[in-house]
Amino acid sequence: FLFSKTLMILLSLSSIIHKIESQTQPWSPLDAPKELLQMLIRDPLTLSLASTDFGHIVHQNAFAIFAPSSINDISKLIEFSNSLLIPFTIAARGQGHSVNGQSMTNDGVVVNMTELNNNNNNNNGIVVFDDYVDVGGEQIWIHVLHACLEKGLTPLSWTDYLYLSVGGTLSNAGISGQTFRFGPQISNVHELDVVTGEGDLVTCSTTKNSELFYAVLGGLGQFGVITRARIALGPAPQRVKWLRLLYNNFSTFSQDQEQLISFNGINETNAPNYIEGMLLLNQPPLDLSFYLETDRSRVTSLIIQYNIIYVIELVKYYDANSQDHVDQEIETLVQGLNFVPTFIFEKDVSYEEFLNRVHSDELTLRSQGLWDIPHPWLNMFVPKSRISDFDEGVFKGIILKQNITAGLVIVYPINKTKWNDNMSAVTPNEEIFYVVSLLRTTKFDKLEEFQDQNQQIIQFCKDVGIGMKQYLPQKKTHEEWVEHFGHKWEVFENRKAQFDPNKILSPGQGIFN
Ligand code: FAD
Repeated sequence: FLFSKTLMILLSLSSIIHKIESQTQPWSPLDAPKELLQMLIRDPLTLSLASTDFGHIVHQNAFAIFAPSSINDISKLIEFSNSLLIPFTIAARGQGHSVNGQSMTNDGVVVNMTELNNNNNNNNGIVVFDDYVDVGGEQIWIHVLHACLEKGLTPLSWTDYLYLSVGGTLSNAGISGQTFRFGPQISNVHELDVVTGEGDLVTCSTTKNSELFYAVLGGLGQFGVITRARIALGPAPQRVKWLRLLYNNFSTFSQDQEQLISFNGINETNAPNYIEGMLLLNQPPLDLSFYLETDRSRVTSLIIQYNIIYVIELVKYYDANSQDHVDQEIETLVQGLNFVPTFIFEKDVSYEEFLNRVHSDELTLRSQGLWDIPHPWLNMFVPKSRISDFDEGVFKGIILKQNITAGLVIVYPINKTKWNDNMSAVTPNEEIFYVVSLLRTTKFDKLEEFQDQNQQIIQFCKDVGIGMKQYLPQKKTHEEWVEHFGHKWEVFENRKAQFDPNKILSPGQGIFN
């Protein structure tokens, strides 16, 4: 009896050891259940497409790409990984428009979310109701816009670029010039369907499974795969007055921006619908395509005179039959603003043309071979109390002085009251903070220079104690992540343990893996 018992123990030990040994190697797809096996793609071309992203900076080789035909397939894949002694990592990939490998995995599986965009298998697609729209996590915002416009409706909060997936932007926040008024996209979600890190499909909202709901919004893909989002809608305007106001002084520029987002003295319907801002630097390439040919030379002279010009971008929506009314509203809005006299420029375009404005830049850049090249971007939230130090130290002190092509630099304030602090997204601890986006494009041989400059900017903020928070945060050490999340770290960690205990999801963010 003793002999046979010992033998059984030895046998089971050896099988465990064998299992561990074989699984320190990449797992074998042959272990996968048959129905998953046919959806795991390993051909070199598909693998290489998922080994890069819009940033073209980080490269990671997945073991396989998963092409789900239904949401249930994603559950099964996650369950299968959890069933292994050493689970493999899984990265949902929306459009791969991250810039630092966030939608990649080394030796794990990338889920190609776009495969769900078909009408089979009860996948979600886009279904428009009276005041909300249900969309699959794989859908891209331009398609959401088109479907809603057909019914005279529109989401209220946007990103500047619409070829991003709903799951991808809701995993970050989704911000643009409408954020000051309606909050980020994550503040405009009524309900989600999520496949958790254990493979459970869960519906959640502020009243149902709320912990998961708050975790996933701004959660950097750590807690589950978003397969459906219910998004708030309002009536769609037809047209847009799109203004740019030029400033030669940072403090008047920022005071005017802050006034415009404060609704001071105006009720909400008369407020602007969109406020952003940007720099015009005396550095090539200077993009003056917004301005009429006849205005470009005086704009250029102003830039040369001051080296740095700040631009407020202000938009007011209207319907075709209220043209006079909108002109009056704009007059009221710009009254008392301190832009350089006469340096105010206006365009009148359709609502869709305005929202989809970055797509025309994309087409131009693609035609010049300047789209699929490195993007060493840096996106930050800077507290209002330190924005002028940031102007002196970063815009004038680093960017202007070092004179490496700055690319597009976006600067605009938003209101913290429109964010929900229960959500995972991280913001500075002040009522108003500024979005600062350094959207650079460079050839491979100059990449290091830009990365160095980004590091200098981050270091400068640290040295002078500007409590800046990165948006679309990039890989950090454990200590840096703890600092990034601040008071939210403990909750974030607990939520990970609750919803993805084996730390399978979105390893490319580099938080737990
Ligand atoms: P991916 O890069 O595919 O994924 C990003 C992260 O989300 C990864 O961790 C991934 O695993 C996870 N993920 C993807 N899908 C899901 C899902 N369904 N469920 C759970 N997790 C998921 N952002 C703004 O806020 N405002 C802007 O104005 C803006 N403009 C941009 C303009 C351009 C040209 C580009 C390239 C990016 C811009 N972004 C902007 C950034 C963009 O919102 C993020 O990079 C976003 O993640 C891109 O979506 P994606 O579908 O490509 O995500």
